[in-house]
Amino acid sequence: MIPTVMPTYARTEHDFVRGEGAWLIDGSGRRHLDFGAGIAVNCLGHAHPKLVAALTEQAGKLWHTSNLYRAPWQEALSKRLSELTFADTMFFTNSGAEAMECAFKLARKYQHHAGFPEKTEIVVFEGCFHGRTMAGISASGAEKMVKGFGPLLQGFVRVPLDLDAVKAAVSAEKTAAICIEPVMGEGGIIPVERDFLRALRSIADEAGALLILDEIQCGVGRTGKLFAHEWAGIKPDVMAIAKGIGGGFPIGACLATEQAAAGMVAGTHGSTYGGNPLGCAVAMAVLDEITAPGFLDNVNRLAGRLRQKLGALVDAHPAIFEGTRGEGLMLGLRCAAPNGDVVKAAYAEGLLTVPAADNVVRILPPLNVTEAEIDEALSRLDAAAARLEAA
Ligand SMILES: *Cc1c(COP(=O)(O)O)cnc(C)c1O
Repeated sequence: MIPTVMPTYARTEHDFVRGEGAWLIDGSGRRHLDFGAGIAVNCLGHAHPKLVAALTEQAGKLWHTSNLYRAPWQEALSKRLSELTFADTMFFTNSGAEAMECAFKLARKYQHHAGFPEKTEIVVFEGCFHGRTMAGISASGAEKMVKGFGPLLQGFVRVPLDLDAVKAAVSAEKTAAICIEPVMGEGGIIPVERDFLRALRSIADEAGALLILDEIQCGVGRTGKLFAHEWAGIKPDVMAIAKGIGGGFPIGACLATEQAAAGMVAGTHGSTYGGNPLGCAVAMAVLDEITAPGFLDNVNRLAGRLRQKLGALVDAHPAIFEGTRGEGLMLGLRCAAPNGDVVKAAYAEGLLTVPAADNVVRILPPLNVTEAEIDEALSRLDAAAARLEAA
């Protein structure tokens, strides 16, 4: 009989009941060190007192009014995010996929509004992940995501991470936008070279196309900058965020320049729940923490320690690991053994990590993890590797 929860996930038996910082506690009272952070969502760990306070305070006042009325919480959050980024305006969503959906719609609308209705193509990259809506899976094209779901949405042109391929795919006649994750997450923690991002910026400009960045996983402090593209010193026209911005409460946003959003007038897009007061209150509290003086310096310091220790781990277990890659606290361990086996062996040691494509294990601790927790995670990974070597 089919489970009452539709079985679209291969879930583990973990039955978590409570969280404290970087730790999750299961039904039997066992403590697990959470270096997956709910797939880069719990950026401040579990049950952070300031986030709990922001949520409960708002919960006692107002949960929902709809987008029929003024939304001071959206005004405040958008003003804050606009001050912190390239963006002049933004649309709030409940998830990453919806933020990308808005980005794709906006790109087409922009061209249409500018008098180029035939510019509808969106250039995307092999191994990309932009969510599970029809547009998201059409962009990704990965067999397991699209098989049986056709016909897919038209207009996505997929190219490898290669500038000549991008140049060949982009044209001033047809291209609405180029869309990329500055660090590919599901694809296996693949950081895009800074020069590559800069080149995409100029290719998009030359073709009159928008540059859309999907920072749903790599944004909000994860790479050691507030947003990953800051490392390249470029500005996108459009950026999708979600995951970390809510610290565990569902909220996302599609940020844009005034010019890019010119066609998005009243009636063109909407969401009943998007930008609800609870999500906006939590997101404000998340931003307060992440933009506090010294917070990102600490992320970079922790990242250096973690990266160095992962390097030593790889050297110590060549039969299990091949190397490390990533940026900041968004790191990947490329495995020699099957990554699923590594993740399982780490589970047995009470350490949670997340598999990704290309035989990678993602290491995504909360951004406020401690040095002692990093050391503990590494000794658990070491034990997990020893477990696999002995098997
Ligand atoms: C998680 C993710 C999405 C989808 O977000 P959901 O909230 O699951 O809809 C899109 N793009 C990237 C890069 C992601 O990591």
